[in-house]
This record gives sequence, C-alpha cells and structure tokens, in this order.
Amino acid sequence: MSGLRAIRGEIVHFLGDPADLGADALAHFPDGLLIVRDGLVAELGPAADLLRRLPAGTSVDDYRGKLVLPGFIDTHIHYAQTDIVASYGEQVLAWLEKYTYPTERRFADPAHAAAVAEFFCDELLRNGTTTAMAFATVHPASVDALFAAARKRHMRMIAGKVLMDRNCPDFLRDPADGGDAESKALIERWHGRDRLLYAVTPRFAPTSTPAQMALAGRLFADHPGVYLQSHLAENEREVAWVARLYPEARSYLDVYERYGQLGARSVFAHCVWIDDTDRARMATTGAAISFCPTSNLFLGSGLFDLDRAHAAGVRVGLGTDVGGGTSFSMLQTLNEAYKVQQLRGQRLPVERGFYLATRGGARSLYLDDRIGSFDTGREADLVVLDPAATPLLARRTAVATTLSERLFALMLLGDDRAVAATWVMGEPAWRRP
Ligand SMILES: [Zn+2]
Repeated sequence: MSGLRAIRGEIVHFLGDPADLGADALAHFPDGLLIVRDGLVAELGPAADLLRRLPAGTSVDDYRGKLVLPGFIDTHIHYAQTDIVASYGEQVLAWLEKYTYPTERRFADPAHAAAVAEFFCDELLRNGTTTAMAFATVHPASVDALFAAARKRHMRMIAGKVLMDRNCPDFLRDPADGGDAESKALIERWHGRDRLLYAVTPRFAPTSTPAQMALAGRLFADHPGVYLQSHLAENEREVAWVARLYPEARSYLDVYERYGQLGARSVFAHCVWIDDTDRARMATTGAAISFCPTSNLFLGSGLFDLDRAHAAGVRVGLGTDVGGGTSFSMLQTLNEAYKVQQLRGQRLPVERGFYLATRGGARSLYLDDRIGSFDTGREADLVVLDPAATPLLARRTAVATTLSERLFALMLLGDDRAVAATWVMGEPAWRRP
C-alpha cells in the first residue's frame, strides 16, 4: 500500500438508507477530494478546502467531470457460471440440469478454474464491482482458484464450496462426509486471510440431504464470522418441490431455520415467493436477502417485493446472479430492479438504488464498518462513473439539471462502458483504455 494519495471529482456516497433518512442520507461534493492513507479513507470534503492542506507532492488523480462512488457490492453471483451467461430458454430447475451442472463439472480441473477465476475478477472490476459474494462449485480447487485471483487484486471476496449430496449428477456429489472435511480445510486456509471471507454454501435445500443440511448449520455455527449463502424461494415449482421434500417445515425458509442456517451473515438469494412470517423471521434473526432482478426476469422466476422486505426490516442487497442473471453490471442490475418495482406498482428512487448497490449491500453483509461508503477509516474501494461514456448518455446527461437525473441516466443507460476506473484499497485496479 502506498502512503498518501487523493482522488478529485464529483464525489457521492450514502450515510444511511434514503428510505429512512430521505435527503439526509446522501453526501455530495460537486468538486470533492477523497484523501486515502494506506488504503483507507482518511478524509473527504470540498477540494477547495482540502487541497490547501494536502502535503506537497501528494499524488492527486483528477476525475473532474466524472462521478466517484464507493465500489459496487454484488451479494450473489456464481463465478463458475461465467461461461453460460445468456443461455436460452429455461426456468431455474431445468436451467440447472441443462446448463449449470455440465459447466460446473469442468471445475474439477484446477487450470480451468484458475482461468475462469482470473477472467471473473477482471470482469467484476471492469464493471466497478469491488466486493462479491460468490458461489464456487463442489470442487475445493474451484474455491482456491477464486480466492487466489481475488487476493492477487486485493479484492474483498466472500466465497465457498458448494454443498450438494442429492438430486444432482454423481460427478457433482459431495463425498460420504457431506463435504465436511473439505469445507473445514477451506475455512482454515482462507477465512480472514487478507480481505477474504468464507461462506458455507449449500446450493439450495433440494440438493442437500437432511444430514448435509444439519452439517451446513453446524459449520456455520462452529466458525464465528463465517457466512452462509444459499437460494430461497426463487421459483414456484421449486417451492412446491421443497414442500414435498421437507413436509414437516412450515415454509421453505423454515427448512433453513430448522437446520441452523438462519442468522447474521446468512444471505439468501431471490426470496420472491416468501410470506410475511418468513420476512419477520429473517428480520429477527438478522439474515439478509440478495435481490437479483436480471436473473428473476431472465429465468421467469417472479417479481421480488422490495417494499415488503423493507417494511419488515429485512436487510437487502443486490445480486447479479450471473449466469442466471444476464449482466455483471450493477448499473444494469439497478435498471432491471427499477422495472421489477414498476411491475409491482412500487418505486425505486435512484438514490435508494445506488444505496443498495453500495452501503446497503455492505450492511446486508455486516461489512458496513469496512466498505460501502467513504466514512473515515473505510477501505478505499471506489468506482468512477462517466456520465458521457456513450453518445446517448452524453446527450441525456447534458440536459440533466440535478444529480438525481444524472445518476438515473447512468442507472438506466449505463453498463461497463460507463465505468472509467475502479480502485481497490486506494489503488487503481482497472482503468478504461
Ligand atoms: Zn444463484
């Protein structure tokens, strides 16, 4: 890490949830300076004030004309599905059989896993995403490959080995101990190393036996600070299947709760088909939802109810869910999130959208004391957005009169092309050529 450096530009971050705090949630410096020391945020304020006090010779990267925000946080993605993004025609259960399992089989080969992991981390950075919570595959080497690629780039990454021991092909089935020894070895090897964190990763309730579900709950309980990630109530047929497999459970969510998988640091993707009792349990236990709009639309799963989740007090982050999702871009994810809310008769104000992609995502992961904002002491991960990145964006933002209008244009019209640079721990990690 270098000592001191600074970033100048139009700087925006959130102090809290705009749904609760209104306009007070937003901090905006039209000509701001972000000072970074040893990779952490040291100070943020108007450039006119801070430049005068900056020690002579401090390097200042000048992004005036562009927007500087905290790096995006993707709370649900499958790195091993990078090569099947945009595969035609199925809903989730058939999707798994037809596309997912064959592509995940290839991760038994560590060289293949390493090549995909390198591409995946570069693609996240190209899209301004500096933290992700990712599924690997059942193969321990697939986890090693992803953590190694993230570590090389100093990225925050939460990941884990998929647990799966029924209703899946033999070539992806866990050994007789249910993946216990492999999971423990991976936690030992990676959890808490640099910026890396481990997540116990049962794919979803239908592909684990009750014995493996209990094992996953034990792994989660026995390793403080470790995460748990899974899928919940994505698709109506899936929900009916879970009801047949676990007839004793009140609901799909109740299955996870019965096996000790609900609590702070457990993150469930989708949650389209849950009820108010489920939402109340998630809020009480501190579990989080990852809202994955491009995936929910692409796989025809349904429309997530963001307002009800918020009203119940559930923590919510955003996920791309690549490869069921159709873009690595959190801007495109927000674009689709906005439309999902429209179809529900709800609104997603632009400030709330960017909050969910940054500080809200961090909060859902219990990492808002580390990332997601430019509060003093936070890890200096950031994305530089170019409001004139494409001819249409340039034309639209030229007539925009407010910050909200410009951010909304970026959210609807932007994608990886709008990302001018991405910084990780106070250092440039990617710059648009
Ligand atoms: Zn998923």
